[in-house]
Amino acid sequence: MMTALDSPPLGLVLDDIVRSHRPRTEAGSVPANIPHLQSPPFDRFGIAVATTSGEVFSSGDAGLPFSIQSISKVFTLAMALSADDSGSLWSRVLREPSGTSFNSLVQLEVEHGVPRNPFINSGALVVTDHLMERSPDAAAQVLRFLNGQVGQPGPFIDEIAARSELSSSSRNLALAHFLKEFGNLRRPAQAVVENYVRQCSIMMTCVEVAKAGLFLAQDGRGAQGAVISRSEAKRIGSIMLTCGMYDAAGEFAYRVGLPGKSGVGGGILAIVPGECAICVWSPRLDSKGNSLAGTAALADLSDRTGWSIF
Ligand code: GLN
Repeated sequence: MMTALDSPPLGLVLDDIVRSHRPRTEAGSVPANIPHLQSPPFDRFGIAVATTSGEVFSSGDAGLPFSIQSISKVFTLAMALSADDSGSLWSRVLREPSGTSFNSLVQLEVEHGVPRNPFINSGALVVTDHLMERSPDAAAQVLRFLNGQVGQPGPFIDEIAARSELSSSSRNLALAHFLKEFGNLRRPAQAVVENYVRQCSIMMTCVEVAKAGLFLAQDGRGAQGAVISRSEAKRIGSIMLTCGMYDAAGEFAYRVGLPGKSGVGGGILAIVPGECAICVWSPRLDSKGNSLAGTAALADLSDRTGWSIF
């Protein structure tokens, strides 16, 4: 762990991380099925750290909004678990790494409509369905939660992007129909996918994502009080570590050593329990759908600071 005497200030470390990791070539890819994710230039790179002592450090493009995509799955899980009926969620979705891609249909069918974990698409659809029990506009619930954590003006839903993703969501609709067929979806498949896609289309900056994720680094306590209990915060961290990067979770744990959650918008939220929440964003992805430069930057930051759960 860095100590005050032997380390440069965190702001300077982040500036150096940006210098070292901002992409110089167009390596990696962007998802073909989500047209609006093709617009950010390949060399966008931002990083922000929100600490449990209330400070926020950032560098690069940390103030530019990006599409959080599957990072939203951490927030929807926390919201679902914060309700009294959290026990029933765990009868509908497991907590095992999937070892397959985030939108795999095969595994869901073989395993009779019970998703491996809440961070692959099928599991997140079940969580969204669960949230829709409280109010049918689950995406608006998520937005309210995020605005509560980071203030106004802040996160917003890019409705145009959501509509465009929805028009090419055959695979997510197929997953939802499978879930329905197996009796693991209460609301209509189309309505659940619509809410899911809108929650994925929330736009936030690195600074906002780091602030919004801070409750996971401080025993479940967010900007407006307890979001979830300490043991639930620990458990969400565990699921992030084992499932947050899909079929690259093992590689990410090896390289970074922190619970993380990625999105195909190129963002990654990582948690250092008791210390801080980190968000890094760079749009180009590796073959598993995780930010190429973002993962490398987090590995570097963890090595430089000693931030790791190991
Ligand atoms: N909206 C994307 C999808 O459903 C989210 C996937 C992701 O970020 N891994 O395909």
